[in-house]
Formats: sequence, C-alpha cells, structure tokens
Amino acid sequence: MIARPSRREFMGLTAGAVAATVTPWFSRTVAAVAAADASNADLIIINANVYTVDSRLPKAGAFAVKNSRFIAVGTNDEIKGLAGKDTRTIDARQMTVVPGFTDCHNHAGGDVLLYEVLVGNPFEVEFVTIASIVDKLRAKAKQTPAGTWVSGYFFDDTKVKDKRELNVHDLDDVSREHPVVVQHRGGHTSYYNSKALAMAGITKETKNPPGGTYDRDEKGELTGRVTDTARAVFNKVGTRPTLTPAELERRSREGIAHISKQFVRYGLTSVHHQGGDLAAIQDVRMRGDLRHRVSYEMSGRVLDSMIASGIQTGFGDEWIKLGATSEHTLDGSFSERTMSMSQPYPGSKTGYKGNVTESQEELNAWIERVHRAGIQVNCHANGDVAIDMYLTSVERVQKLFPRADARPKITHCTAINDSLVKRIKALDAIPALFTTYAYYNSDKFVFYGEEFMTRAMAFRSLLDAGVQAAAGSDFSPGPFAPLMGIQGMVTRKGWDGKIWGANQKISVDDAIRVNTLHGAYASKEENNKGSITAGKLADFVMLSEDPHTIDPEKIKDIKIVRTVVGGKGSYEA
Ligand SMILES: [Zn+2]
Repeated sequence: MIARPSRREFMGLTAGAVAATVTPWFSRTVAAVAAADASNADLIIINANVYTVDSRLPKAGAFAVKNSRFIAVGTNDEIKGLAGKDTRTIDARQMTVVPGFTDCHNHAGGDVLLYEVLVGNPFEVEFVTIASIVDKLRAKAKQTPAGTWVSGYFFDDTKVKDKRELNVHDLDDVSREHPVVVQHRGGHTSYYNSKALAMAGITKETKNPPGGTYDRDEKGELTGRVTDTARAVFNKVGTRPTLTPAELERRSREGIAHISKQFVRYGLTSVHHQGGDLAAIQDVRMRGDLRHRVSYEMSGRVLDSMIASGIQTGFGDEWIKLGATSEHTLDGSFSERTMSMSQPYPGSKTGYKGNVTESQEELNAWIERVHRAGIQVNCHANGDVAIDMYLTSVERVQKLFPRADARPKITHCTAINDSLVKRIKALDAIPALFTTYAYYNSDKFVFYGEEFMTRAMAFRSLLDAGVQAAAGSDFSPGPFAPLMGIQGMVTRKGWDGKIWGANQKISVDDAIRVNTLHGAYASKEENNKGSITAGKLADFVMLSEDPHTIDPEKIKDIKIVRTVVGGKGSYEA
C-alpha cells in the first residue's frame, strides 16, 4: 500500500509552510499521513539532523518509514508516537541525514572494473607512472595471442607522475606483436602502438577525418594519440578476445552487481545508466543484488524497439524505469580538450575549435524521430556550438510537434553563455553538468583559462535562472562520489589547490538539491523521490559529519555511514 498525504493533510502541510517563516523548524507540525496509517511504522529514525530538501519543511529531527516510503517527517516526539511493536528504531545520535543522491549520467562499467586492465584509479585522485602502465599491459600481453588486442582502461593524461603524454613508443614497449590501446577515461581519446596503427593503415600522411584527429608531433610523426571519430578504423582490425555467450552473460551480471555495491558505498541511491545490459540489470534485481534504482537510458536496439512498439519514457517501476535516451553525441570532450567551441582553444597554433560529430540535419532527424515517439531526448553537448545545435533542434521539433513536459536533457552542457541559459530555461531543458570535475580535473582547466571557466560547469548561473541543473558524473570519465562533487560545487577548488570559476560556487544546500531533487526531476520522478517527504520512496543517506558545518574542503572525506533504499539498508559502513 502506498501512503500518501490526504487532501486535509496536504492543506495542513501548506499551513505549515506559511508558519515556517516565523517558527523554528523543530516546533513545526508533522507533515504526515493519517495516524491510523502511520502507526506501527517499519522503521523510525530519531535524534537526527535531517536536511529534507523539501522547502515546506527543510529541517527535521526524525522520520518514519512504512512499506518502503516515508510516512511522516517531524520532531522526535511526533515520530516516536508512530512506533508499534514491530517497529525498528534507529537512534541517529545527531548524525546528518540527507535524501539519497542521484547521478544523472553514468556509464556504470562494472564489468570493466572487474575484468579489464585498469591503468588508473577509477574512484579517487591518484598519480601513476608510465612504467606502471607499460608493466600492467605487458603482463596482459604475455597471456594474449599475437594479433589480439591488449587494452588498458581508466588512463588519465594529467594523473601521470612522469608529467608527459603517453606515446606510441611507450606502447611499443608493451608489444610489437599485439595491437595495443590505452583508453583515456574520458572516452574520446585513445593511444595506440605502432602495430595497431599499421594494422589500421594509418601513416603520417593519413588525413584527419571530419570530427577526429591522428595527432602528430612537431616533426609530423604520429604520436599514437587519436581523437573522437578518427578511432573508428581501429574497430575493424585485429582480433578481440572471444568470450562465450555464457561468459558474457556472467560478466554483465557480476559487473552490475559490483557497480551497484560501489554506488551505495558512496551514497548513490539512483543512477541514470547509459545503456548497458538491460536483461542483466533485471536478473541482478531478481536475485536481490540490485542495491540502487536505475533510470535506464537507451540507444540502438532498445531505442528502436521502444519506438517500434510504442514504449515511452517512464515505462517500468520504481527500481528499473526507462528514462531518457542515452547521450546522443554531438561533440567532443571537456577533459580531453576536443569539445566544440565558438572560439579557438586558447594557445592553439592551428586555430583548433574542437570536434563537432554530427550535422544539424542528422540531429534534427534523430530528435524528431525520438521526440515524436514520446521518449525524452538527451544529447551529449559540451561546447557552446554543440549546445546551440541541440537547442535549435529541440526548439524546431517543439514548434512542429509540441509535447508538454518534454524536459530535454543536456548531458554535460559544459560551456554556456547568457543566451544559451535563456533558451535552456525556456525549453525547461535539464543540464546534467559534470560534478566531480571541479575537484578531480582542476589540472585540465589551465588548457581553457579562467575567462572560460567562469562560464563552465555553470551551476550558479543555471540555478539563478531557475534551471533544474542536475548532477552527471559521467563515470568512467569522472569519479562518481557525490560528496566529491558537492565539495567541488561549493569550493570550485581542485585537488591541486587551484580555484577556477569561483563565480559559479553554490551553497551546500543548493549542491545537495542538485544531487537529489533535481536528479529526480531529470527523470520525471520528483513526485516519487529526491527529498525526505511523506509519501516519497524512503531513500536516504546517513553521514558522519554535516557538510554544512565541516570545513568545505573536507566534504569529500565525510563517511557514508548508512545508505538506505526503500527503507532497507543497502550499505552500512
Ligand atoms: Zn557520457
């Protein structure tokens, strides 16, 4: 049974909100369901420092949960009365409680974490040596037949102790018999050895294709770094390690179960997955190992079948729901410096303005097909050029085929200006900005400069304009820890102590709202989750410290003590 506030209680709630301006939070009335419903709660939390992210009752000391939903939020005295003989009571001892966090853009590569060679740290800032990368890949090459690809993952070009680019010579030291590739964690650039380049027929004379580059050094020799669309030729050459269908299935399931554990360890209770094995997600749920809620974002076969069979965004249930499309890519990367820009990259001798990876006509056709099918559109647009293209396309389709509450999602939406912000607001578009980058990737902002950074990852500008900006870690490109993200939003200070675009700082309250309620709004689930409100799903996180009062530069070190999804423990420290 779902407990929802009745009409009378809803009225009471409104009265409470009016009183809120003069009454301290702890003396407000319970915003709750009828007592008959609420008695004998499954779980009550008392003596807590609760930030509800509900403007009608922003702070509380206790709450009750029944049938996986919050049924009452208020003071200790009010909530204690809801305990019955079967109620579990947790004394929070003044610990801070916030709604469960939502990551609106995550590639959830659990199988890569479990089964592939990781040449960098997926979760934290850590520096590695090029020698360590070569060693790990050499060990892999020893177990791999010649001609078969040897691949490394989670490389980050600015987390290298050697302070230089990884190059073709390093990877030739891994092997000359195997094609070798190191994937940048950002997902838009890769590094190849000579064998791989030769197999793909790439020489220093090869021309760059539209939307990509074969990088060369000052002498014109290939460096091994290849960007965006130029990497497509490598998919057609060499042998890939073969797995049986049963092995593939097992990997997918174990990968989902593994990443789910990692998510709740960091306080995430909802994650928007960029594709992945939908059957595996359902299997893992059936066997009881899905610890977080999934908004599944689709492309390819799943998207085509949805359109063909009339399935729209919102199909599914509270654990696995079909959301927007996965990111339909329009340009390059922020962290790898290939995003589309209206001005050349600062310091570029060639006038490089990044990579646009689709034409306006192709984009219009894609948007029209998806939008008309009742599926929430979502494009990857980092640079101002790509964001403009996307908005143009959505404005066009809304004129031709208007659809209410479409909430087009903009994955990344990194570089904005005043006119783009106005158009985003007018469309009620949802930007899912990078979150952990402010802390994790501060070493890359020097390539853009301070003037640019004052309008990049522009949480302040977007919130001021009334836009429901949300959080999108983009894991694997960014670590997904929400507290690392919140620290970056609040301080704009990187791991290296450098501050970039301080004008875009937001408050702790705003940063929590971005990571909770706005995340729910992004998948059209704000009536069901995103705040600690009677009637919503009981997803919450208990923190060892209050991010409002701790030194802002230590927010990322706050311990997640307990993560609760639907009233049940998903993680306990
Ligand atoms: Zn992405």
